[in-house]
Amino acid sequence: MNLGRFLSVVSGLVLVILAARLDVFADEGMYPISEIHKLNLKSLGFELSADELYHPNGVSLIDAIVNVGGCTGSFVSAEGLVITNHHCVFGALSNASSAEHDYVTHGFLAATRADELRATGMTIRITESYRDVSSEILSDVTESMLPAERTKAIQKRMREVTEEAEKAHPGKQALVAEMFAGKTYVLFLYAQIRDVRLVYVPQRAIGEFGGEDDNWVWPRHTGDFSFVRAYVAPDGSPAEYSKDNVPYKPRRYLKVNPNGVDENDFVFILGYPGRTFRHQPSGFIRYDEQVRLKTIADFYEWQIRFLEQLGKDDREIALKFDSRIKSLSNVMKNYRGKLKGLKQLHLVQRKLEEEKALTEFIEGSAERKRTYGSVLKTLNAVYDEMIQQADRELLLDQFVSTPTLLSRAAMLYRAALERAKPEDERPAAYKDKNYDRFKQNAIRSLQQYYEPADKGLLRELLRRAALLPESARIKELESLTRSDQAIEDFLQKSYGSTVLTSEDRIKELLDASPDGLESLRDPFLNLAVKLEPVYKALADARERRSGILSREYPLYVDVKEQFQKAKFIPDANGTLRLTFGRIKGYSPADAVYYSPISTLAGVIQKSSGEPPFYNTPEKLLKLAREGMYGRYAHKRLNSVPVGILYNTDTTGGNSGSPVMNARGELVGVNFDRAYEATINDYAWSDSYSRSIAVDIRYVLWVTKYVGGVDYLLKEMGVE
Ligand code: ASP
Repeated sequence: MNLGRFLSVVSGLVLVILAARLDVFADEGMYPISEIHKLNLKSLGFELSADELYHPNGVSLIDAIVNVGGCTGSFVSAEGLVITNHHCVFGALSNASSAEHDYVTHGFLAATRADELRATGMTIRITESYRDVSSEILSDVTESMLPAERTKAIQKRMREVTEEAEKAHPGKQALVAEMFAGKTYVLFLYAQIRDVRLVYVPQRAIGEFGGEDDNWVWPRHTGDFSFVRAYVAPDGSPAEYSKDNVPYKPRRYLKVNPNGVDENDFVFILGYPGRTFRHQPSGFIRYDEQVRLKTIADFYEWQIRFLEQLGKDDREIALKFDSRIKSLSNVMKNYRGKLKGLKQLHLVQRKLEEEKALTEFIEGSAERKRTYGSVLKTLNAVYDEMIQQADRELLLDQFVSTPTLLSRAAMLYRAALERAKPEDERPAAYKDKNYDRFKQNAIRSLQQYYEPADKGLLRELLRRAALLPESARIKELESLTRSDQAIEDFLQKSYGSTVLTSEDRIKELLDASPDGLESLRDPFLNLAVKLEPVYKALADARERRSGILSREYPLYVDVKEQFQKAKFIPDANGTLRLTFGRIKGYSPADAVYYSPISTLAGVIQKSSGEPPFYNTPEKLLKLAREGMYGRYAHKRLNSVPVGILYNTDTTGGNSGSPVMNARGELVGVNFDRAYEATINDYAWSDSYSRSIAVDIRYVLWVTKYVGGVDYLLKEMGVE
């Protein structure tokens, strides 16, 4: 074989291998609702028509699906009853708890409607409609714009389009979602419910059974469910919490199917997945793998240890951190899983190979070369810059999000600066009509303040700042961090003299001007003011990068679609999506196979009695041992199914999503993924992508026999 022929065979082979690999990554199954009518639902396994799933001008299944505090939930009764995850109400539950009324540990049950407990901070959103607004959002963008100007132009149009939509639809919330950066934008209108109440939350040893050991793991035996209720004003309009409010009457609620599903059955999910990164270039993945995931996971691990230590002898103190430790642990383990997966998949390497083939494709035509020739290089250069700046930038992010008082000072100063601008130039949160809500949230964050914790967190960040390499130093912090003693002196003085621990003062200061705040001479406000130019420079850098990405990214997507002869589904972005699959086991490692349904037998096996995650209530164990399954047993397994596993495409935000059978009946509540599936967010594969739900039979069995909440079963029409 001559060399030319040899090379062409080899490059042909490379292409075949690449195409096969690309195939592996091609199963992006998070379909926006705009795609539903394009799918051949029957052949996929649905026994519903597209209109029954989503009807733009009528009632359909999506009217039963809600976004609840960043998670997903679904209406399961005509009286505004919503089912979601235990971990989705955890924050509200811990806000309502004290050592005396420890709902986190013992769970919560409202004996009557009047006893339902306010779920502070929780709101519900229901998708009402959507409209492609790409041309409106991009209308001010010109070729000659500098990157930062481009970002500003896009953001300005997003604000204006949102504003116009809210004016045209009073009472609704409008949000523009970026589907493909710089290319596709969709305006969503949401109905909002602001009065949400806790109805039934099982004990922690059920709802969080297995704790962090089992988080992101299959097999699973966690009863991760809870019930809340949506309330509105008597006239049906959204209203803040009030005794006079009445249960919301949803346009549609789900039928609960107490018979559940079995292995190989078709299931689908409607929900609000948060973020995925399937369509990102190698530089993005490298940034995540080399710096972001590791830096954050390490810092969270440190925080978890520190906070656990502080609360170990005092439940009242520990309660302040329960929710925070839980979310830190959740993210940390997820990031560790992702890092492991990225390594095992050699994803950066694969992306580089993909980009090499893409480059060859681009260079194969003069026209393509002219249009797309520099795209990959420019995109990846942005991520290279982010890698170089990461130590400093990721630390700066922590300073204004981790320690409460400094975050609060930065928040007050930012609010004052934004509020000083004309109304139409302010971001949504600072506009007059939203500002009350912003204030309430700001004040609520005071609840979990505990000085020794806050001091310890800030001390650690200052120490880390002192260790930054010369090129990354934050010079505004230099005098504070020149020695351990200097840090201690600053902490002593600041925590001893600040006014930012007072709720009343914060309320006042939320209306102060920038000058007013500066003249207070509060140590944390002083620091926030001093750091403002640093954050301004960071915001400018991010604006510039975002401008470059939004200019290049549409070209990248276009040429990749041409190359792969495919039309991409946009990455998850917190908007309503459909995904489907089957109840299916998997093999995470050589010689290991996991079957897809767990049962009460596993709860008994794991219940060592150790609190707080393995001390299963005696009542539950007794019922399980005696085989008191009622109508909820799985015949073949001869036990109550607890967890189910399936190969749909989900991510964070899908927590609480209804898992439905082919007819759209509720058969489970999604709450997690298997460890290997944490890598989903970058690359989906049928071989490892598995999501986990609590089986509806376990939900109903616990509710009836352990909780004794017969009225809920009646309300859902189950018994
Ligand atoms: N456990 C996740 C959540 O909290 C769900 C997931 O990421 O699969 O949203």
